[in-house]
Amino acid sequence: MTLIEALARYWGYTSFRPLQREAMEAVLSGRDSLLVLPTGGGKSLCFQAPAMVKPGLAIVVSPLISLMKDQVDTLVGNGVPAALYNSAQTGEEKASVAAGLREGRYRLLYVSPERLAGEGSDGFLSLVAARSVSFVAVDEAHCISHWGHDFRPEYRQLGRLRQVLAGASLHAYTATATARVRRDIVEQLALDRPLELVGSFDRPNLLYRVLPRGVLKQQLLDVLGRHRGEAGIVYCTSRREVDALAAWLTSLGTPALPYHAGLSDVERHRNQDAFLSERIDIVVATVAFGMGIDRSDVRFVVHAGSPRSLEHYQQESGRAGRDGLEAECVLIASSADFMKWRLMLEQSGELTEATVAMLRQMERYATAVGCRHRHLAGHFGDEYQAPGASGCAACDVCLGELETPAEPVVLARKILSCVARVGQRFGAAHVTSVLRGHASEQVVARGHDALSTFGLLTTSSVAEVRGYIEQLIGLGLLRQAGDQYPVLALTAGGLALLKDERACPGLTLARQRTPDTSAPRTRSRAEAESWEGVDHTLFERLRAVRLAIARARGVPPYVIFHDATLREMARRRPASLGELLEVRGVGTRKAQDLGEAFLAEIRGPA
Ligand code: ADP
Ligand code: ZN
Repeated sequence: MTLIEALARYWGYTSFRPLQREAMEAVLSGRDSLLVLPTGGGKSLCFQAPAMVKPGLAIVVSPLISLMKDQVDTLVGNGVPAALYNSAQTGEEKASVAAGLREGRYRLLYVSPERLAGEGSDGFLSLVAARSVSFVAVDEAHCISHWGHDFRPEYRQLGRLRQVLAGASLHAYTATATARVRRDIVEQLALDRPLELVGSFDRPNLLYRVLPRGVLKQQLLDVLGRHRGEAGIVYCTSRREVDALAAWLTSLGTPALPYHAGLSDVERHRNQDAFLSERIDIVVATVAFGMGIDRSDVRFVVHAGSPRSLEHYQQESGRAGRDGLEAECVLIASSADFMKWRLMLEQSGELTEATVAMLRQMERYATAVGCRHRHLAGHFGDEYQAPGASGCAACDVCLGELETPAEPVVLARKILSCVARVGQRFGAAHVTSVLRGHASEQVVARGHDALSTFGLLTTSSVAEVRGYIEQLIGLGLLRQAGDQYPVLALTAGGLALLKDERACPGLTLARQRTPDTSAPRTRSRAEAESWEGVDHTLFERLRAVRLAIARARGVPPYVIFHDATLREMARRRPASLGELLEVRGVGTRKAQDLGEAFLAEIRGPA
């Protein structure tokens, strides 16, 4: 069997995604390799398909038991003989897998790292060493590096594999790897002259938006309003906020479950499971929620507070749209987030040059007003090629949702001078009141309603002025000082601009364009394309069929079919098994097993 035959037969795919062929061929030829592709890029297939082509047993190291289970369920559903072996199994289950191994029943075996290299791994190793192991795939390989975002000490042991399974080639896979993490992976796993394949980091199907934090709840409702009935994740930086927002959303009739490290294992597991099985569509979470979230139809990820690095942001926002369909990633950030992180890093003794630099880069993203795709690609060392003249067509900047005021220098100087007038002793809220000419109690008490800067920006909204202040902080013209009650102060750069209006050539500020509620909302290119010709109601009906089957079988719906496959069915309306097989994502086994149920729904009531 060739690779392309395996793809068609077991997965129902007819072509390779970028770098998939190269990665699979490295496996077949037994050359060590490292593949870096963004989430949703199709890494799993790069070790799964060769496992069906190359004789012997392929071993997959995966850090999360829940993830393993889903992958194995999916594989088995596709007719691929796969099994898993981990500490969560009962003695009986393990014995059954061991027997299957001895009989050579499997082509793929998923194991946790400690099974393979930790204490007590000897028994297991002698079990697999007796088989001919064709290759070992290490998934989420960045877990091996301190420089990644998810270090796992167990991964460090994997270097031993080289000695134990001398004949097998080693292959590493990850979605996030800066050059430093890549080097770490190669060294720690002792990869032998590996073929390194690094894909483009850009995710064209993701629509990025950045909002300065204003009235958070309203901002959240705006996003949710665009995604009725769809799956999404809201990330918060504190457990308290997670609980509060989850309860609030639920009270509004938008059921949401919380997820954070403060919940018991049972609750966490239950909530995650509810999300994966589509019993609930929204999870409000801290970063504790993530790895192992294989639900591929996540249509939006909102950050109600900034993460601590762009690596984290990329990882977390990247959980949206894994099925390749359009999805939205919204970052709602304020300078308070960054102060909070600095404080937390300080308290935990992690405030190093590296973490400060990473935080600073995150802050720059949150306040910049250029194309988001270009910004992210640039950070990860990619040269970004915009697909069209109007830019990426998938970010707030390129979609024209931001306006740039005509005289940014004048505007900046108004704000800077107000900060100076109040003696650099007040926070953003107070400065905003003064600028807007709002004679609040506090403003009047300080006599700030008599300042020359009082009312300089009367026509601007609070959110707008706050947004400018955030941008000036991001540009390094203002800074915040003091932890408990941060006050705004001028930096040397800010002072220079106050003295000389030519001090910052090319200065740009931006504000959110007031949404025109009568206009149709802007859609990204990906969204327009992926819905083209799709019968929406049929798509929803097919989702219901999928859900019913998934419930009956006790597996998450995406294990049955991905949304992308259902949309294609709702576009092509196959009338026979033969036509159904032409739909991407429908393999032979699935067509036989599930085809009739979906064909019947497409045919409609007789
Ligand atoms: P990753 O592990 O890189 O995050 P996955 O392996 O989960 O990505 O793949 C993401 C999605 O893309 C899955 O739905 C998968 O079935 C699909 N996919 C992968 N390779 C192909 C391909 N060659 N053609 C069509 N769909 C693919
Ligand atoms: Zn853009």
